[in-house]
Amino acid sequence: MECGPVVVPGHETGDAADPLRVPGLIRVRPVGRGESMVAEAVESTFESRLLERRKVAERTNAFLFEKPSGFTFRAGQFLEFALLNPTETDAEGTTRSFSIASAPHEEALMIATRMRDTAFKRQLGELPIGAKISVKGPFGDLVLHEDASKPAVFLAGGIGITPFRSILTDAARRQLPHRMVLFYSNRRSEDATFFEEIEGLERLNPNFKMVPTMTQMENSRFSWGGERREIDRAMLSRRIDDDPHPVYYVAGPPRFVTGVHGMLRETGIEETDIRAEAFDGY
Ligand SMILES: Cc1cc2nc3c(=O)[nH]c(=O)nc-3n(C[C@H](O)[C@H](O)[C@H](O)COP(=O)(O)OP(=O)(O)OC[C@H]3O[C@@H](n4cnc5c(N)ncnc54)[C@H](O)[C@@H]3O)c2cc1C
Repeated sequence: MECGPVVVPGHETGDAADPLRVPGLIRVRPVGRGESMVAEAVESTFESRLLERRKVAERTNAFLFEKPSGFTFRAGQFLEFALLNPTETDAEGTTRSFSIASAPHEEALMIATRMRDTAFKRQLGELPIGAKISVKGPFGDLVLHEDASKPAVFLAGGIGITPFRSILTDAARRQLPHRMVLFYSNRRSEDATFFEEIEGLERLNPNFKMVPTMTQMENSRFSWGGERREIDRAMLSRRIDDDPHPVYYVAGPPRFVTGVHGMLRETGIEETDIRAEAFDGY
């Protein structure tokens, strides 16, 4: 595997400035409120080859990249991808952030994205198998809390499922005792990325339940017997046991994240019990 360090403009590592930031080393840091110490993977920059591209929902592809040996991350974190030698670009540049949809124990680094008609997505979509891309990370704190007595409530808007696919796959594999509920909102079942796979995790993990909702099934080719409303207070209270208070995780397009975050706050949920990541650019 050829995954040596490389420096791409805008992708410089902070290694020189911070001697603790050695690629591949694990740093330990304290986290908030009653949680124990957790291991944090330290960021690095490397080149990675595209191994596989697969369709995971309508107009939505997963891309599997080579994972360098020794590279570690925590389920829920994200990476920055920079195109090397792109033949076209636009005002947004050649770098985008993507949550890691694969779990830490899985062999490849997988991302998933809606294939919109932008310069970056065209280049990514046309990347030949075996071609290289520059990767920097991991980044982010959207990771599962340690205190298993607190349930986790995940709220995913569309492609916002990516960090939760990683966390849920990891939890099933490690048989984590946390009770977990995923509210998964899409317009139509065609758009619901990793849907069957996450249904499979429900069977593997007795502590996990998914509540999918499809808000525009009138535009779908399929029938749907589940929830159809946007995620709201009533839907949450019917499905969540809030004793002890859960930790809420929200991910998706900025409008979804802002809306759900506001709804949670109006319901009286403390800011410290909400962790949110907006996928800027949607
Ligand atoms: C922490 C983090 C994690 C993320 N994880 C993911 C992930 O897992 N998967 C993922 O797909 N994205 C993720 N994103 C978002 C990702 O980085 C891109 O911004 C996003 O995919 C859009 O990229 P683009 O090239 O399609 O659009 P850009 O070229 O970045 O679009 C620029 C602007 O043009 C507009 N625009 C472009 N195309 C359209 C269109 N067809 N319709 C309407 N408006 C349009 C948008 O308003 C956008 O603001 C993440 C972002 C962050 C910050």
